Amino acid sequence: MIVGIDLGTTNSLVAYFTEEGPKIIPNRLGKNLTPSVVSVDEEGNVYVGETAKERMSLYPSSVAQTFKRSMGTERTYNLSGHLFKPEELSSMVLRALKEDAEAFLGEEVTEAVISVPAYFDDKRRKATKRAGELAGLKVERMISEPTAAAVAYGLYDKNQDTRFLVFDLGGGTFDVSVLELYHNILEVRAVAGDNYLGGEDFTQEMAKLFLQKVNLQLSDLSEKDQVRLTRAAEKAKRAISDEANVTMSFLYREETKEAVISAKEYEEACRDLLAKIREPVKKSLSDAGLKLSEIDEVLLIGGATRLSIVRDFLIRLFRKFPDTKLNPDETVALGAAVQAAMKERREEVKEVILTDVCSFTLGTEVVVEYDEDKYESGRFCPIIERNTVIPASHTERLYTVRDNQSSVRVRVLQGESRYARNNLYLGELEIEVPPGPKGSQSVDVTYTYDINSLLEVEVKVVSTGIGKKMIIKGDSNQMTDEEIQKRMEELAYLKIQPRDYEENRLVLLRAERMYEESLGERRQKLDHYITAFDAALKRGDHDAIREAREELSALLEEDED
Ligand code: AMP
Repeated sequence: MIVGIDLGTTNSLVAYFTEEGPKIIPNRLGKNLTPSVVSVDEEGNVYVGETAKERMSLYPSSVAQTFKRSMGTERTYNLSGHLFKPEELSSMVLRALKEDAEAFLGEEVTEAVISVPAYFDDKRRKATKRAGELAGLKVERMISEPTAAAVAYGLYDKNQDTRFLVFDLGGGTFDVSVLELYHNILEVRAVAGDNYLGGEDFTQEMAKLFLQKVNLQLSDLSEKDQVRLTRAAEKAKRAISDEANVTMSFLYREETKEAVISAKEYEEACRDLLAKIREPVKKSLSDAGLKLSEIDEVLLIGGATRLSIVRDFLIRLFRKFPDTKLNPDETVALGAAVQAAMKERREEVKEVILTDVCSFTLGTEVVVEYDEDKYESGRFCPIIERNTVIPASHTERLYTVRDNQSSVRVRVLQGESRYARNNLYLGELEIEVPPGPKGSQSVDVTYTYDINSLLEVEVKVVSTGIGKKMIIKGDSNQMTDEEIQKRMEELAYLKIQPRDYEENRLVLLRAERMYEESLGERRQKLDHYITAFDAALKRGDHDAIREAREELSALLEEDED
């Protein structure tokens, strides 16, 4: 079985294809969303998802989150003294999803289609693929998130050509993509975004507003206080979409601080954040050569698009109501599952051609004559421009700049700067040319970029027809199968907690946190129930464990409210 996975910045999901269409697979706790959070304790025990997130307030230095942002970089995370790369942390999330899918489906899952942001460059896509491999999953296909959303909405099935915009505001990232369905080809026309804008920023605005109202500074709060404040702000943020006022409260040095926040005040506080949304929308449209009014449909994905201030802003901007038929958290995973079904060639799905865009410019270094006989070297000449639909092949003709120049060197670069030195060097190719006055000899440089992110560079001397070719994998950080196997073995000391105990552990952690947060009678009551639960766990008596857990959970729910 091939599953579809949305490996998100905040949450991840796994889905599979059924006769009735794609469906989300619930995790071991019965939830559709698994937080993309990993925690490792000193003994090398790994916690993934809700449990890891719950450990945040008790053991902050053992927890990593939002590591998707660092995918493909050399950043390392230190969790209780163990070091991990972003793709290794991602592989733990994938391992948990794989296990959940296997338990649910009752069969082994060996392959997955994983979604990646449309702007992910080659390096980050390869790192995502490695994460899959480290989790024991074959990842032959990746699907860009906006394409997955369009597929989940069934837009690929439309008979008429359509242009649409996918607006994705997640926890920590914001992406806009313009897509076009044209003669059965679903094409990403342009992407833009802001890697540092998301729902969490809207939570922080709520927290700031609250602190202002109760006369506290962020610097007055300890790390644990801040985690609690964020949690309270998150709750208030979710509530404010449906209410004119919310009351937010927070226990500070044994005193309950409380403030009423109105939706109007909140909208005002988020003005700058909303303004930041406009830029990428404009940029993606202008890169796609379209006007706002030419967009037929707007799809919303990412949890933060549930915020009513965001929706209202979009309705004003586009002058139309966005399509919100599907749950914005689940859309991408559902689309990935449809893509998995396409890959399996299931007859229920119509095969469409999905294309992607190259999210950065590929070019070469050139010498430019800016006045007669005056040259400037080190300039960048774009060959395949950002947001070109791939697969793509473009040719640029370059001329000799000196008399009797004996060769031409093509340096392959990636980036947007006008100056070669500011762009990323990927490799180079040199070819001999026959002697002659400057400008009399030329070479054709062809860049071909395929859907698997392989760049082929071909240089051909125009006068002789002699050519040379080179393939650039674009990833200096590539691991061989043996290296992946070796790293898997190295990571084997990490013990992922058995699925069965997950719920018990989560309830216990939550109870310990609540204990820290409460006082007096409430605290004693919690203590009593925790002790009873602990005792049942130690005895290993299943019925007693279940009973004690249910009692404790009920008490915790009361507290959360
Ligand atoms: P994602 O990365 O797509 O899972 O989105 C997670 C973000 O969505 C977080 O910042 C959440 O706070 C936000 N979110 C989820 N549900 C809601 C809601 N009902 N109202 C406002 N924001 C929400």
